Amino acid sequence: MSKESKKILLSGVKPTGRVHIGNYFGAMKQFVDLQDKYECYIFIADYHAMTTVQNRAELMQGIIDVALDYLAIGLDPKKVILFKQSDVPQVTELTWMFNCITTMPYLMRAHAYKDAEAKNKEINVGLFDYPMLMASDILMQDADLVPVGQDQKQHVEYARDTAQKFNRIYGETFKMPEHFILPQVEVVPGIDGRKMSKSYDNVIPLFATDEEIKKAVMKIPTDSKGVDEPKNPDESIIFSIHKLLLIGEEAKALENKYKKGGMGYKEAKELLIKDLIAFIKPMREKREMLAQDMDSVLDILKEGGKRASMKAEKKMKEVREKVGVEIY
Ligand code: ADP
Repeated sequence: MSKESKKILLSGVKPTGRVHIGNYFGAMKQFVDLQDKYECYIFIADYHAMTTVQNRAELMQGIIDVALDYLAIGLDPKKVILFKQSDVPQVTELTWMFNCITTMPYLMRAHAYKDAEAKNKEINVGLFDYPMLMASDILMQDADLVPVGQDQKQHVEYARDTAQKFNRIYGETFKMPEHFILPQVEVVPGIDGRKMSKSYDNVIPLFATDEEIKKAVMKIPTDSKGVDEPKNPDESIIFSIHKLLLIGEEAKALENKYKKGGMGYKEAKELLIKDLIAFIKPMREKREMLAQDMDSVLDILKEGGKRASMKAEKKMKEVREKVGVEIY
């Protein structure tokens, strides 16, 4: 297939702390797996992060971290346009236009907003408007496919609704994006069994050290079944994390080990630790290598930013004309 006829894939991760295996299996792995098949735009959502990170050094470090993460998991900058959101300032311009065609009650239905409100958090306007900034990211680049975890599904729906509304008011302008969520990894559980999340302190970092892996796995709660007793793999947090690392027969074999009895939770944890280390160590080492040459990493981001913003500027010319601010 020629490049021109490839469909467009777009997604992003916020630079808000260390990425974890939930981010990886839920979303980032799909970026890598699909990079040959799609024209890919993968970015660091630094403006989205500003809704929670209001510390200069922390934000800068976070951006650099996600850039390294992307390269370490195997995104190839020759195939993928890697950039940071703030290098495409047109998205904030488009967000304003979307704000003007969007009602407050509609944004009040967003899960993230409702959660924050239920927890009595102080809600900034940026957090309230988060779905519109995300709609701009997606619609700006004419994305067809948006790979994300289950928690972001509603946000992709906001983007679809916004595209429709804009098109209805101003004429056909934006493509209708689809979310891409793999059912078997739509919600990766954390070591406490809740959704793995940077904000729950229940993560296994994607680039964890061997020690961190051991410590995290040892914390996983289990029931009181003895070594010989059969165990239900579907009720075990250890197994639900372990199966992410196994394919086909391997997963079946481990499942049977749980069911048969004879394997205690200590052994189950040791097996998980071994497989996690085997999976994480090579990526962690690659990341350490990449970090030795930050100039090249920053060049990749700069270059990607130029390309993404060139495409965005073309789109915005059309949008400015359609809304009526382009009079010269
Ligand atoms: P977090 O929820 O940990 O703050 P982000 O919001 O930065 O992570 O999410 C980045 C991507 O990872 C999104 O596509 C999100 O849906 C996905 N993701 C996050 N946590 C999980 C999880 N536990 N299972 C599956 N996907 C997840």
